[in-house]
Amino acid sequence: MRKSSRKTTPRVGFVSLGCPKALVDSERVLTQLRAEGYATSASYRDADLVIVNTCGFIDAAVEESLDAIGEALAENGKVIVTGCLGAKDGMVRSAHPSVLAVTGPHDTDAVMRAVHDHLKRPHDPYTDLVPPQGVRLTPRHYAYLKISEGCNHRCSFCIIPSLRGDLVSRPLGEVMQEAERLVDAGVRELLVISQDTSAYGVDIKYRTGFWNGRPMKTRLTELARALGDLPGAPWLRLHYVYPYPHVDELIPLMAEGRLLPYLDIPFQHASARILKRMKRPANAENVLERIAAWRRICPELAIRSTFIVGFPGETEAEFGELLDFLDEAQLDRVGCFAYSPVDGAAANELDGAVAEELKEERRARFMHAQARISRARLEAKVGRRLRVLVDTVEEGGAKARSTADAPEIDGVVHVRHARKLQAGEFAEVLIEKSDEHDLYGRVA
Ligand code: SF4
Repeated sequence: MRKSSRKTTPRVGFVSLGCPKALVDSERVLTQLRAEGYATSASYRDADLVIVNTCGFIDAAVEESLDAIGEALAENGKVIVTGCLGAKDGMVRSAHPSVLAVTGPHDTDAVMRAVHDHLKRPHDPYTDLVPPQGVRLTPRHYAYLKISEGCNHRCSFCIIPSLRGDLVSRPLGEVMQEAERLVDAGVRELLVISQDTSAYGVDIKYRTGFWNGRPMKTRLTELARALGDLPGAPWLRLHYVYPYPHVDELIPLMAEGRLLPYLDIPFQHASARILKRMKRPANAENVLERIAAWRRICPELAIRSTFIVGFPGETEAEFGELLDFLDEAQLDRVGCFAYSPVDGAAANELDGAVAEELKEERRARFMHAQARISRARLEAKVGRRLRVLVDTVEEGGAKARSTADAPEIDGVVHVRHARKLQAGEFAEVLIEKSDEHDLYGRVA
């Protein structure tokens, strides 16, 4: 009798925690597992072993990761740990001494070596069953495209460089090939990610690479131009862009429609003194003027940013500077965190800790101010026709996103009369109303 494939195919359970960069690492490991003939399991019980891709960014993420490892050990018993927390081997092993292996982030080879050590590789590699775009955890119509790993900066509140190392840019041809495969497989929106997208190519001195037989510098502007020329005109959205001078070169590409008019720029603060204490790669000088100039070239530009309030030493006046900046910058989407010390971060040594209640109070005041701005900016879109990408269609309506909305982090466009729409399709929507986060409309 033929054995069922359930019995013969080794199965791996996978838990993926953390940010989009960690998600891409998970996709790579899952792709490799599938390429080698392993199956994935939806439950701990059916898995022969479990891989937990962890996050170590803030204390809450560390706790969540350690809990996930504990749960996988209790339910399955055989666990391989990878990801950012994996860089802290000692911490993982002291909490969970029985894990099979611990590897650091973006190290597919090390994860696969650990899998091979504990779960025999299947005879038939099933290579032909792996889709050319790899295994992805995002919906079919959008995908993250990681262009580099690590970061050359040393922001005092951040431990990412110690977890993920210095900047390593992926070869331009490799990034382009991956983007082309994704678009061929039906992806309509590419989200470019890294720790520091603007720095792409700095580590290899903007070395000349090749794409379609043409020499091209490994540099963000050139990459964005090439991605913008991909057949099928997918949406191309840039995340984690620091406002280095050459970012100005991207704005005309947005005005021409080759790139989405969207910039995710983590400004973090507006006070020059606080930015210095944060050791941020770019300071606030000229930022307001540059934003105004960008909007003159590309009026559709949507800017998303994140800020930290209550950073050690932040005075009431400096917080006030931040509120003034917010008022003038009129950003579209904003996230705000009350400063929380991360184990191992240089900022922990700074004097002037801000009391918890004060941090929370400042965060609330900040969010209140931004809510007003956000509401007004969305209200200004009422009556306009916007091109949207449909994410989901349910009875009674669809959820879609305009060029100003990145998945998961920004708002959405709720579309009524959407019965004929399908997920992954572009549509024109007439905007009828708005609130603080979202837009509402009908198919135009
Ligand atoms: S730029 Fe700063 S915050 Fe961003 S990853 Fe690098 S060190 Fe961390």
